Amino acid sequence: MPNFRLPDEVFEEAARRFPTPFHLYDEQGILDTAKKLNAAFSWAPHFQEYFAVKALPNPAVLKLYHQVHCGLDCSSECELLLAEMAGFSGEDIMFSANAMPPEELAHARRLNAIVNLDDLSDIDLLSANGGIPETVCVRYNPGGSFTLGNAIMGEPGESKYGWTKEQMREGLPRLKALGAKKFGLHAFLASSTMDNSYYPRLAGILFDLGAEMEKETGLQLAFINLSGGIGIPYRPEETETDILQVGEGVRQEYARVFGDPAKGRVGIKAELGRYMTGPHGWLVTHAVHEKKIYKDYIGVDACAANLMRPAMYGAYHHIHVCGKRNAPADHMYDVTGCLCENNDKFAIDRMLPEIQIGDLVVIHDTGAHGFSMGYQYNGRLRSAEVLYTKDGDFRLIRRAETPEDYFATLV
Ligand SMILES: *Cc1c(COP(=O)(O)O)cnc(C)c1O
Repeated sequence: MPNFRLPDEVFEEAARRFPTPFHLYDEQGILDTAKKLNAAFSWAPHFQEYFAVKALPNPAVLKLYHQVHCGLDCSSECELLLAEMAGFSGEDIMFSANAMPPEELAHARRLNAIVNLDDLSDIDLLSANGGIPETVCVRYNPGGSFTLGNAIMGEPGESKYGWTKEQMREGLPRLKALGAKKFGLHAFLASSTMDNSYYPRLAGILFDLGAEMEKETGLQLAFINLSGGIGIPYRPEETETDILQVGEGVRQEYARVFGDPAKGRVGIKAELGRYMTGPHGWLVTHAVHEKKIYKDYIGVDACAANLMRPAMYGAYHHIHVCGKRNAPADHMYDVTGCLCENNDKFAIDRMLPEIQIGDLVVIHDTGAHGFSMGYQYNGRLRSAEVLYTKDGDFRLIRRAETPEDYFATLV
């Protein structure tokens, strides 16, 4: 079930204060989810979530994560700069890049961030760009298919990320010879997963591998990083991940491999993005056009440039019409944007209440991989972002782009 925490008065008041379209984020919801995650892993030694910056890269939101003892997961120069801007440093930053640009690696080392190496060749790159730190993280790719029960959840064998186990046998001793004392293990094997057994299963794989590699190499296993991938209920018929059950499942795996967590020294880290902020964002739009040809189309004042997931993945985003939550959903619409691209549709054949021009149309679950995936195709501009604060106020945390922004890079 998508998040219906905010009443329509909140969207209506926001739309009186700021021109649509904009993304609205719920500060209280974001903090509550972080606290729930921390509670689910309160049994774990040194648990820390590193919020994946790419999901919602606004410093006003990133700063909230200080209050709940989270760090940030970055994977580019600008994301490192955002983390600095939001006041994060040292081991509160995780840096994971693929095809690692050397100068970004050096930047991460200057900040004393934890570096997550994606390839064997990154050892030499790190050595030459800031040096090998005492603790270094390594990304694992088990290959083949990743399954839960009978379901194939991901195809690591087709994924560009991580090291093979054989490469770990070669690389970890080299890291040790170059001065590393401890290592962490990271893997991201399934995306947007609603199955409560994903994290426990992944944890079991990484705990076993970590224990084996520790024994073989003499490097100390410092932590396991379970990365991102926990999904959210985009559809009304889906139920939220039971994060307490997920935490308990990981605890059982921990106990199986390392014994009593209370005496444990292997830390647990996570890099959730979608789960943390996804349900706490909405794209607020007005219906500006209706067109009836072979189908009935409602045009809104946002487009795929503001939320790409439906166009890119055919992703479902729930939509509701303000003031009509209890009206019968007896009209079938395609809800579209204004791009010259037929995939610019927020919904296809969606049953909704009858929509009038001027209605406030709210698109749900845009708090992760929403604004951040925006682009400027067709000369369309990125929207504003507004924070609905925990005291019930509204704060503009990013203004909408103007044509001047669009032309600013021309030479
Ligand atoms: C994208 C990403 C995440 C976050 O993924 P979600 O699906 O949003 O949880 C975490 N870690 C890494 C390395 C990523 O690339």
